[in-house]
Amino acid sequence: MQQYNGKGIADGVAAGPILYYDRGRQPVIPAAVEDTGAELKRYEAAKTEAHKQLQTLCDKALKKAGKESAAIFEVHRMMLDDEDYNASVTNRITGEKVCAEYAVAATGDEIAGKLSAMDDDYLRARSADVEEISGLMIRILSGTSAMTEPPEPVILVAEDLSPSETVQFDRSKLLAFVTRDCSANSHTAILARTMNLPAVTGIDIDSSWNGKQAVVDGCNGTVTIDPDEGLMNEMLLLRHRDEEHMQLLQQFKGRPTVSRSGRKIRLCANIGSVTDTRAALENDAEGIGLFRSEFLYLESNGLPTEELLFNCYKTVAKDMAGKQVVIRTLDLGSDKQAAYLDPGHEANPAMGWRGIRICLDRPDIFRTQLRAIYRASSFGDLAVMFPMIVSLDEVRKCKGIMADVKAELKKEGLPFKEDMETGIMIETPAAAVISESLAKEVDFFSIGTNDLTQYTLAIDRQNAKLESIYDSHHPAVLELIRMTIENGHKAGVRVGICGELAADTSLTQTFLDYGVDELSVSPSFILTVRSAVINAD
Ligand code: PEP
Ligand code: MG
Repeated sequence: MQQYNGKGIADGVAAGPILYYDRGRQPVIPAAVEDTGAELKRYEAAKTEAHKQLQTLCDKALKKAGKESAAIFEVHRMMLDDEDYNASVTNRITGEKVCAEYAVAATGDEIAGKLSAMDDDYLRARSADVEEISGLMIRILSGTSAMTEPPEPVILVAEDLSPSETVQFDRSKLLAFVTRDCSANSHTAILARTMNLPAVTGIDIDSSWNGKQAVVDGCNGTVTIDPDEGLMNEMLLLRHRDEEHMQLLQQFKGRPTVSRSGRKIRLCANIGSVTDTRAALENDAEGIGLFRSEFLYLESNGLPTEELLFNCYKTVAKDMAGKQVVIRTLDLGSDKQAAYLDPGHEANPAMGWRGIRICLDRPDIFRTQLRAIYRASSFGDLAVMFPMIVSLDEVRKCKGIMADVKAELKKEGLPFKEDMETGIMIETPAAAVISESLAKEVDFFSIGTNDLTQYTLAIDRQNAKLESIYDSHHPAVLELIRMTIENGHKAGVRVGICGELAADTSLTQTFLDYGVDELSVSPSFILTVRSAVINAD
């Protein structure tokens, strides 16, 4: 039994087998082979397996995301049969007498290098496809896995996980996350909390753990490999205590979120997928205060269609049965990169092409999402919210596009809710400072304390090294929150908080004193926050 100490970033305990997730391709060694005929056969067998895996992915994408997303796997299958690619691999095996893994890696690197140097945008973008195909072939040949659907629930161990990697995993097959580098405020940590999975970071992970049994304790930040019976019993006890605590919290279900002095708060859930509404309802959410809609874009291999988005929003609206659902328009960019939306080189992506900036630059993408939201608005109480706002001009441009979309839908005779509420995130210091003017343009504000802290303190929320100074309680952050609430109220605008700070019960009293109207938190925190509000003045 070996125990490792790290940092818990999502509470809970879990036990089970480890899946070591290998993101990148490991360096491939040019091992010499004697029997080149056998090596060629091994290569052909791997190709057959790759075709099979790509066909499965293609069928799944077709079902989940439509033709456009599935097309990418068809392209990959065609590349796999490309004559030049295959000739180069076989020549290397027979001529240089190297293993198939190396022949594939060298061929992939050579072709990808040539493509990325081309002037044509389309051909340049194909270089990533060649790399992907080579990566898949090497994984099959070397028997390493990058599988996103393990046969049984696993503890996922990885150097780091990007949000797009995290959402690819089948949630029902995950028990916990263990990483080397991941800050508590990263989207991956937020996703773990939304999924109610324990997570520990800062662990010196080892690929030899793959397949071993482990216990992850997200409260104490420990990971134990090959746990003995004593520890397994301790874990069961901890789990039992967790369950008892959850049981105690059940008394807050069905109760209004009202403080001792009679202040009523709307207590909502943050979600990242359609299925998260189940956890929101189970924990008695009074609405969805933040639907991080970009995760739908990260799950898909191409831009989701209007129909796909419409169906997702319609499902959420119907599931929430009249409770309001605030859909934040896609906040891609920075750490949430969709492979098909290349921002080009960015020296500083957190301050780069992200959020509303992408939407205003690519009105085609924005309009598709807004059409889907408006069309779904007749199936429940939907509201729309724009992220990363820094100016009045941006808000006015968004409203202009919304007006166009409404006119278009009206012309097409499609039903929608004319007066859907419109809000913005206050998550940049600029937006907080000009909140008095912004309030005149919208129906509500939602304060994103994760980014507000990052930009106010100039501290990267992703950087685990800076976590000790990433201080959401900093007086400057609290003052911007207070000021935003005051300015919102002056214009009669509702003000909520949807960043991670909303679930920090050491600040519940402070937020009530500031006059906050809504708190929106990960589903598993709802009852804890309700108990804090009920016990506050
Ligand atoms: C925030 O910045 O606080 C927020 C809620 O948005 P996200 O965490 O998705 O950036
Ligand atoms: Mg944000």
